[in-house]
Amino acid sequence: MKKLIILPLLLFTCISLGQTSQKIYNIIDAVSSKRIEKDIQTLVNFGTRNTFSDTISNTRGIGAARRWIKSEFESISKNCNNCLDVFYQKDFVTKEGNRRVPHDAWVVNVVAIQKGTKYPNRYIIMSGDIDSRASDTMDFTTDAPGANDNASGMAGTIEAARVLSNYQFESSIVYVGLSGEEQGLFGGSGLAKYAKENNWDVIGVLNNDMIGNIKGVDGVIDNRSFRIFSEPVPANETERERQLRRFYGGEVDGVSRQLARYVHKTVKIYMPEMNPMMVYRLDRFGRGGHHRPFNDLGFAGIRIMEAHENYNQQHQDIREENGIKYGDVIEHVNFEYAKKLTAVNAINMASLASAPPAPKNVAIGGIVEPSAKFKWDKVEGAVGYKIYWRDTTSPTWDYSRYVGDVSEFTLEGIVIDNFFFGIAAVGKDGFESPVVFPNKVFR
Ligand SMILES: [Zn+2]
Repeated sequence: MKKLIILPLLLFTCISLGQTSQKIYNIIDAVSSKRIEKDIQTLVNFGTRNTFSDTISNTRGIGAARRWIKSEFESISKNCNNCLDVFYQKDFVTKEGNRRVPHDAWVVNVVAIQKGTKYPNRYIIMSGDIDSRASDTMDFTTDAPGANDNASGMAGTIEAARVLSNYQFESSIVYVGLSGEEQGLFGGSGLAKYAKENNWDVIGVLNNDMIGNIKGVDGVIDNRSFRIFSEPVPANETERERQLRRFYGGEVDGVSRQLARYVHKTVKIYMPEMNPMMVYRLDRFGRGGHHRPFNDLGFAGIRIMEAHENYNQQHQDIREENGIKYGDVIEHVNFEYAKKLTAVNAINMASLASAPPAPKNVAIGGIVEPSAKFKWDKVEGAVGYKIYWRDTTSPTWDYSRYVGDVSEFTLEGIVIDNFFFGIAAVGKDGFESPVVFPNKVFR
């Protein structure tokens, strides 16, 4: 009799894995462009949010802005039975030794944490920036509305908190407004250090910096494409890891790149109208963003942003010159587009926070053999594992095989030399961890 009972259960597990989740569609639908517009307007109304601007006024400057963001997180928390832990995380920066710091000041981040029910110490982080700048980044008094850079990312982060706080997730979600971006990524450095010191198990950082512009400086108008920037391999890898890559591969398979592929895939499944562009570099050419300080410490982190920037509308004093209007004003922000990119974040955080941890100690074998072999350590909460592989020239994990609740598997007839491989853990509702590229070899 026992066998008869087990069989239907197995069948059910297999079927549910192929399905999409209604919860994820509901999350997409719940994101509001109206609320994002309202929040961007509120942030713009603070005049300037330069990190070194006024902190006393309640209507102008970064102090007023961060207090408003904190109160917004607190009211979201009130609506979900205090599900958010809201606090300031701050570090003191000094003029001395920092050529872009006009005077000593506290760089204050506003953090809201939705604790996970099963893995409270695992964190997926969504960030936007509180601060803005005028043409001169040292100028902390001139109007700098920063509507797109980066009230859009900040408003998206607040809106994601509104939507996701209606649900409970197994892992923790952090919604954060970071400061000091424009003078040296101080806020991101501070929170990355805080995460390290508190032994956070960081699943990844989704840094949102400019998610509202659809008219490029080149004239292209596009409200469907967006970019996912990721560095190839961790910046803090060891010399030995670098050397082993020559023989075993992994040049384009670091943890941040796997996170980028995860976002790309989730969007392809749930938001097929969008065109996610994976860009194989840390950030735009020679420019920076707040995911970088997390990457510096070895955390997975990516930048999500618009596909087409308009440089006349960022880091510019509001003015008109030779018929060109300069300035990052709210008229240029497309709220429907910011809503889409907010949804991109929300569904990926929901998926990651619903998935089991990634498998550990993933090892690969099969040198001079007809089949590729794998071994890994099982993780708590996984109902099974999925082996992914792809042609070495492909950016995405194009082939996969679900292998059930085992800790080793042989892919018969697949020659190790001709593909790259990785393994993900699969939870009971079908949500998957990011893919882990093997870091061990066995014979
Ligand atoms: Zn900027």
